[in-house]
Amino acid sequence: MADLVKPTPSPCRVDLAGQVALVTGASRGIGKAIAQQLATCGAAVACVARTVEGLQATLHAIRDAGGMAEPFAGDVGQAADVARIVEAVDARWGGIHILVNNAGITRDALMLRMDDAAWNDVIQTNLNSAFYFMRAVGAVMIRQRYGRIINISSVSGLSGNPGQANYSASKAGLIGLTRTVAKELASRKITVNAVAPGFIGTDMTAALPDKIKEKVKEWIPMGRMGQPEEIADLVTYLAGPGASYLTGQVIAVDGGMTA
Ligand code: NAP
Repeated sequence: MADLVKPTPSPCRVDLAGQVALVTGASRGIGKAIAQQLATCGAAVACVARTVEGLQATLHAIRDAGGMAEPFAGDVGQAADVARIVEAVDARWGGIHILVNNAGITRDALMLRMDDAAWNDVIQTNLNSAFYFMRAVGAVMIRQRYGRIINISSVSGLSGNPGQANYSASKAGLIGLTRTVAKELASRKITVNAVAPGFIGTDMTAALPDKIKEKVKEWIPMGRMGQPEEIADLVTYLAGPGASYLTGQVIAVDGGMTA
C-alpha cells in the first residue's frame, strides 16, 4: 500500500543464540516477519503452516540471511497435528524456548448472519490452537524451567469490531488464556504475554475493500497501517532476556488506536 512507511530494520539487540523458537502462521505476513527476526537474533526457528510449500519463502529468506529454520506442516486447530509438531521440534532440537501463537484467520459476517462453520473455524484456528500449543509446549518448557510464550491477539479482542463476532471472541479468549497461563507458569520461569496488533499491512487486511481501508486510517492516530516488522520488534523483545519480569500482559501495537 502506498501509504505504508517502511521502518528501518532494527539492529538485533536481543541475543537468542542457542534457543529454539516455534512460530505458527510463519508462511507470510506477521508470522513470517517474526520468524525472520527471531532467526536474525540467533534462534533456530520451527516454522509452522498448513503446507511445507507455503513455508518455502520464509525458509529461503531465513537461510539466505545465514539463519536456521525448518518447516513443520499441520493444521494448528487439530490437537493431533499440534502434538505431532511439538514432538518433532523437540526431537529435532532438544527443547523449545520460545512459542509464538500467531496463526489466525477471519471469516467475517454480522452476528445474525454468521453460520456455525464460520464461528467454529475461527475459534478452532485462532483460540483452540493456542491452547493446544501452550499445553504441549508448556510441558517442554516446564522440563527446561524456562520459556517465553507470546500470543498474537488483536485490538478486535480488546474493543470488539462489527462483523467480527467470531474473530473478536477468539482474540479476547486468547487474552484470558494468556493471563491465566501466565499465573500458572510464572514460578517455572515461563512468561506468557499477548500482543494486540491494530491494522497491519498483510494479506489479511489486503482483502478488505479499499473504502474500508481508507476509513480505517481515519481511526488510527498515526494515520497509517502498521508493518509486520513493527509487531516482530515487540515479539522479539518479549522473547528475550530484557523481558524476564514481564508476564500476563497485553500490549497493543496499533498506532494509538486504543490509546
Ligand atoms: P495472514 O497474512 O493471513 O497469515 C496467516 C498465517 O496463518 C499464514 O501463515 C497461514 O498459513 C497461517 N494459518 C492459517 N490457518 C492455519 C491453520 N489452520 N493451520 C496452520 N497455519 C494456519 O495473517 P496476518 O495478517 O499475518 O496475521 C497474523 C496474526 O496476526 C493472526 O493471528 C491475525 O489474527 C493477527 N492480527 C493481524 C492483524 C492485521 O491487521 N493483519 C491485526 C491484528 C491481529 P497457511 O495459509 O500457509 O497455512
